[in-house]
Amino acid sequence: MLTKTKVTVANGDGIGPEIMAAVINILENAGANIEYEFIDIGEKVYKEGFTSGIRPEAWDSIRQNGVFLKAPITTPQGGGYKSLNVTIRKALGLFANVRPSKAMAPFIKTHYPNLDVVIVRENEEDLYAGIEYRQTNDVVQGLKLISYPGSDRIIRYAFEYCRSNGRKKLTCMAKDNIMKITDGLFTSLFKEIGKEYPDIDQDIKIIDIGAALLAERPEVFDVVVTQNLYGDIISDIVAQVSGSVGLGGSANIGPTVSMFEAIHGSAPDIAGRNLANPSGLLNGAIMMLVHIGQHKIAEKIMNAWLKTIEEGIHTGDIFVEGKSKQRVGTQEFASAIIERLGQKPEHFATVEYAEGGKPIVIAEYISKPAVKTLMGVDVFVDWKGKDPDELASKLIQTASGILKLKIITNRGAKVYPGNMEETFCSDHWRCRFVAQDANVDYETLHYRPVSYTSVMALMSILHDRGIDIIKTENLYYFDGERGFTLGQGE
Ligand code: NAD
Repeated sequence: MLTKTKVTVANGDGIGPEIMAAVINILENAGANIEYEFIDIGEKVYKEGFTSGIRPEAWDSIRQNGVFLKAPITTPQGGGYKSLNVTIRKALGLFANVRPSKAMAPFIKTHYPNLDVVIVRENEEDLYAGIEYRQTNDVVQGLKLISYPGSDRIIRYAFEYCRSNGRKKLTCMAKDNIMKITDGLFTSLFKEIGKEYPDIDQDIKIIDIGAALLAERPEVFDVVVTQNLYGDIISDIVAQVSGSVGLGGSANIGPTVSMFEAIHGSAPDIAGRNLANPSGLLNGAIMMLVHIGQHKIAEKIMNAWLKTIEEGIHTGDIFVEGKSKQRVGTQEFASAIIERLGQKPEHFATVEYAEGGKPIVIAEYISKPAVKTLMGVDVFVDWKGKDPDELASKLIQTASGILKLKIITNRGAKVYPGNMEETFCSDHWRCRFVAQDANVDYETLHYRPVSYTSVMALMSILHDRGIDIIKTENLYYFDGERGFTLGQGE
């Protein structure tokens, strides 16, 4: 007998234990060659004082087995508790979140019977770094961090996913018209990497219209690759318009560990009542079976699930009076699938997973070192005045040395020189200092590099004269290209 694949399993909270029991029952009856190693995570562990919701020995199990099937957990509100999902994704480098959604019309209500979309979401970076500050009385800040290696890896993964799953088109969604450096990096890498995949149709959409189209015409999309926050939002939109978020499974893929789960949460409102639909977790488990090379078992379960759905055997969340045939509980739904193992759907196309497909491996990104030159500094100042000219004259009188005030912006809009009186000003001012020669020209680099010593000298004198510095941001050029944005109206 073939050696069993060891999988770490967490029953989770709320409906977690019920849907996990149903899923394992189906896997066992389908002949999945798996040994289950159970760990505790979630509410109970949080309450024992582990603020991450997981004990140290549980990490060992996940890392040794490399495959983790996880039921949803409840994150207690407040109290310094961290989201375990975010912790696991980051700690284990699960960089790709793959969320397929497919309409099940006419058996599950949807406006889009032809919807069949996969969202590939970057899973570690972006605003999810959780680096946030209150900087002044009126202004707080969150940092959006996007890296070359992180973007390269997810974009390549999405192209490779298209190839290995017979998908024809990849759409990149971002907001590079506004976030020219962060989202600009993402779309420019997409264009560059895309040249290596001429067999895949490629398209870039601004995220706002992209999300609107996903909600209104999802059938025109195939696979979408995007950053963490956008991906979080659009994957829920697509899952919801496909019929129900309760049906979706998701894979979180890393170089050595992968985690499989349902999209939905622990649904405490229906916990312990045998009401929950186990389909989301089952779809996650089917992705896991394909991942560990048990394609035939995955196929058998998927086809039995489709047959159960098309026969109108539905849990309460998808049951429609007059359309569905039988309303069942969680465990009865699992039994209906088990009874149909080996059968093929009649309405839906039979699913086949290509065997022998290798897991997608992305080569490590090789950083291209660029020459970095310091060209000035943005000094962020907490100032309670209202007239930007007054702040400017204070700064101009104060600053000696080679760094001179060039512009002041407030929430990104230029307010000095040439303030428009309608522009609202908060107490958070960005004051840009550069080494100004007679002919300063940002675009053609006709201005002098500066030393960090001159930046420190400037800080020291501003501080001595009572300027309240919140933070500074160095202005660099990389290989002669501006590495910072201009203020609006600069
Ligand atoms: P939820 O997804 O748990 O529930 C939203 C609604 O959908 C509820 O009405 C619920 O009854 C219903 N629902 C969800 N799954 C269902 C299923 N399988 N069958 C039938 N109905 C289902 O979202 P929530 O209420 O916002 O969150 C509850 C808890 O889950 C929170 O503590 C949250 O932090 C956590 N959560 C965990 C995960 C995870 O572990 N991956 C994901 C999201 C939310």
